[in-house]
Amino acid sequence: MSVKYDVVVAGAGNAALCAAISARETGLSVLVLEKAPKHKRGGNSYFTDGAIRFAYNGIDDIRKIIPEMTDEEAAKINMPSYHVDDYYNDLMRVNNNKSDPSLARQLVSRSFETITWMHSHGISFELNYKNQSFEGDGKFHFWGGLPVKTHNIGMGLIKSLNKRAEELGIDIWYEARALDIKKENDRITAIEVEKGGQIVSIPVHSVILACGGFEANKEMRAKHIGPEWEAAIVRGTEYNTGDGLQIALKAGAARHGDWSGCHSIGTDYNAPKVGDFSKPGDIFKKHSYPLGLLINRDGERFVDEGADFRNYTYAKYGREILKQPGAMAFQVYDQQVRPLLREEYDLEEATAFQADSVEELADMIDVNKEAFLKTIAEYNNAVQDGSFHPNEKDGKGTRGIHPPKSNWALKLDQAPYYAFPVTCGITFSFGGLLASIDAEVLTADATPINGLFAAGEMIGGLFYDNYPGGSGLMSGAVFGKLAGKSASRYVKTIKTEETTL
Ligand SMILES: Cc1cc2nc3c(=O)[nH]c(=O)nc-3n(C[C@H](O)[C@H](O)[C@H](O)COP(=O)(O)OP(=O)(O)OC[C@H]3O[C@@H](n4cnc5c(N)ncnc54)[C@H](O)[C@@H]3O)c2cc1C
Repeated sequence: MSVKYDVVVAGAGNAALCAAISARETGLSVLVLEKAPKHKRGGNSYFTDGAIRFAYNGIDDIRKIIPEMTDEEAAKINMPSYHVDDYYNDLMRVNNNKSDPSLARQLVSRSFETITWMHSHGISFELNYKNQSFEGDGKFHFWGGLPVKTHNIGMGLIKSLNKRAEELGIDIWYEARALDIKKENDRITAIEVEKGGQIVSIPVHSVILACGGFEANKEMRAKHIGPEWEAAIVRGTEYNTGDGLQIALKAGAARHGDWSGCHSIGTDYNAPKVGDFSKPGDIFKKHSYPLGLLINRDGERFVDEGADFRNYTYAKYGREILKQPGAMAFQVYDQQVRPLLREEYDLEEATAFQADSVEELADMIDVNKEAFLKTIAEYNNAVQDGSFHPNEKDGKGTRGIHPPKSNWALKLDQAPYYAFPVTCGITFSFGGLLASIDAEVLTADATPINGLFAAGEMIGGLFYDNYPGGSGLMSGAVFGKLAGKSASRYVKTIKTEETTL
């Protein structure tokens, strides 16, 4: 059999390109298939803010991946360590202890070596001063275990990964949709690809699936997550329609993880129905709700806006919004907190209402006015004394209302008032494949499927209910790198066998 490529990687997001680079650096020939046209390449990874979560030991570790940082800059930074166990505990906490312990341990313990590996391949990182630090005592204090983002956010990441792939001689086909894998004698022999209206069969030893989840597939969303999910906005690429999952399941893979769950957020009500590649960057999110109130069209609150830092609640509150009448809600703020809102509230893309009284505000938006005013009045009466500290869980909460607001509860009583309509945007589906800690795709009895590997959103079992921000990119990188190495080991073994036959 003439094999043109050792490995074919399906997908061209972060996980796929990390897998391709990892396989290629061991000397294998690699082809990447991207379903999207070139100007829409890069999957959900392209749309990210580039926030990437890894374990580190203080500023010295951070400087290993941001070597440009001067001693002067470093001296002005307070960077508490974020150990492997901190990461592991955060992951387990936000996933309600459901995360597969072996995959979770692999993700966190490989995170630092993987980010330094990415850096060695030309990916640049920078500190996320704006969203992850606050100033005090002449220093920037970083918090939350997420101090770093990729240079020029997701766009920069995808550009740099593609540059590296090109330097290493990795071929990339655009508008090439992986359809199926072919096997003989229990070994992968080819991958079928739809390209230019034709079905092409590419001979190959090993396939790495990194095609994302099924978040952009309405039917799959409705079937697996729930009928109301048809209405969700797709925050990222329109191309993640579950193809890779279908290919693997057909090849005998087992499902793993939370097939009825997904990551979702509150996003601008007027955001495009699928991610717009001409307006990348995470510009439609609305993440400052811990500082205000979330009120539905019936005029009711429905979550504890201040339950935790937004890093730990934003993912699950999206789905709460979808359950509200009209699949929407309003974030409501007053002048006290308006200057503290994140930068996305000032973008021209933000849908915003402003009024001099809460009554006028209610008249401007589609809400039950009487209930809206009653909710605000009851909330104001329930706010307890205490000091307001937006950068720490200040315990300034409410008493006697349900749901409570547990932190950052300031009375909403200073004009002007603001309302931002939000709906639910799905980020990615959690359901994936059963995979080993080395990214091998497994059958239901945990047997590896020869030559088949997976990475990124396609691996199930890591995220349930929620996820700690920045772990999507890290998971793609960690398991992408591992998938490349595992594919390399596999291909080398079978090539040796073939030459000794
Ligand atoms: C708006 C937004 C902001 C986000 N911000 C962050 C953040 O700051 N930090 C973070 O960690 N995570 C973030 N995430 C989540 C993150 O994007 C994902 O967890 C991660 O990028 C997934 O990477 P991936 O490589 O698995 O998938 P993707 O990057 O989605 O790549 C999948 C690739 O597969 C291709 N594809 C699909 N089907 C086929 C097929 N049949 N054949 C060939 N190719 C195919 C797609 O075109 C795409 O190139 C964000 C997501 C969104 C949508």
